[in-house]
Amino acid sequence: MKSIYLYTLVLLLTVSCNTTTSQNTQNKAPKYIFLFIGDGMGMVQSQAADLYLRTNEQDSLDLLYLPGTGYMSTHSANSQITGSAASGTAISTGTKTNNGMLGISPTGDTLFSFMNTAHKKGMKTGIISSVSLDHATPAAFYAHRNSRNNYHEISVQLAHSDIDFFAGGGFLNPVNKFQNAYTLAEKNGYTLIKSPENLSSLQPDSRYIIYDSLTALPYAIDSQKNRFSLEMITQAAIENLKNEQGFVIMIEGGKIDWASHANDAATTIHEVIEFNKAITKALKFYNKHPEETLIIVTADHETGGMALGEAVVPYETHYDMLVHQLISYEKFEDTLRKIWQDNPKISFEEVYAHITQFYSIGDNYINFSKDDILCIRRAYDFINNNYKISEKEALLKYNCTNISALALDKLSAITITTNRIVAQKSGIGWTTYAHSSAHVPVFTIGIGKEPFCGLIDNTDISKIITSYIDQE
Ligand SMILES: [Zn+2]
Repeated sequence: MKSIYLYTLVLLLTVSCNTTTSQNTQNKAPKYIFLFIGDGMGMVQSQAADLYLRTNEQDSLDLLYLPGTGYMSTHSANSQITGSAASGTAISTGTKTNNGMLGISPTGDTLFSFMNTAHKKGMKTGIISSVSLDHATPAAFYAHRNSRNNYHEISVQLAHSDIDFFAGGGFLNPVNKFQNAYTLAEKNGYTLIKSPENLSSLQPDSRYIIYDSLTALPYAIDSQKNRFSLEMITQAAIENLKNEQGFVIMIEGGKIDWASHANDAATTIHEVIEFNKAITKALKFYNKHPEETLIIVTADHETGGMALGEAVVPYETHYDMLVHQLISYEKFEDTLRKIWQDNPKISFEEVYAHITQFYSIGDNYINFSKDDILCIRRAYDFINNNYKISEKEALLKYNCTNISALALDKLSAITITTNRIVAQKSGIGWTTYAHSSAHVPVFTIGIGKEPFCGLIDNTDISKIITSYIDQE
């Protein structure tokens, strides 16, 4: 990552955000457009990942040092705090809609993505995500539904779409009694690729759906062999879609959002670093085609109200602590689920022993106080419907997680409580288990980056990209 960081620093000194590189390129539209969406990636998630890399690996996060910088409002048509479907729709179509709606206006009009415009102009199009391809953000670029939760119908719309290249997690609900979305996609000319070793067989003029056997790629912190990674499928898209007519590719880091919902700082940071690896692939392409390429890196919204500074440890930062978390909250939750099923009467001491193992607690890395352990015990009691202290006492006296505010799997009470205590000790705070209304950053490099600088709205992304595609 360092070489690109240095390169962009040089660029920063020579090219400001609001000036173009030369008169020659002033009115030129980019031929190759990358739109990276870090789902839930606010400024703080990006900065936390950079600080983590600087503290622990003497490295830095490329995306944070791109020369074009702006920020973006994300509110939806009916809420100051957006969801991914509404924000994805605004980003892809230029029109705001209500939370939960996908590719249609609040009054039911069908809205079309700039991917449609690009296809009509003869450009190749790609949609990539680390979560399932029928999830809100990728679906906002091809689907039209009243509810983002109509997963089967969305996967059928994907099968009928004009997009050239899909890669990500497998469909959530591909089969009903009438049809199978995968079979439909094959009938419509898509070739299905299910294994990383088959990526080398891709042909330039074929259309692909590349998908993981599960409905999302693995968390970077849990990295597994023989699974797709965001970096790998981004590179495959670049190689497959490069052509003389140009391309537009949307790449989503979808699990930054999930880890931030779980207030899991280490997993969030690893997801941002993984997202950055995919951006590095695009930067390598940009370095070969600097006069024809535009890279935009932004987010659909911020998740978790992440903060760099915590009341428990004022003026302190301990990002080195986060290195010792061995697995994601999700993998830990799966482990807990299994041991609870095998032994419904499992004691708190046994549960806590697993926590100390996976979060490396007590090994001179992170030490939990009596009050911290009491908060985790309370989460254990919550799962067993056996509170020993009141909600008020837990919140005010012991600074426990607000368990009653969690609308999640009961086991999340333990994982989120543990995540929040670890984050607090490292100097990272969280204000919510949902999204926030904070503006998100917009980082850019390349031809046509200037309109993305300063304060823009999420609808502007589509408007600016469409204006470039129309010039092609
Ligand atoms: Zn979310």
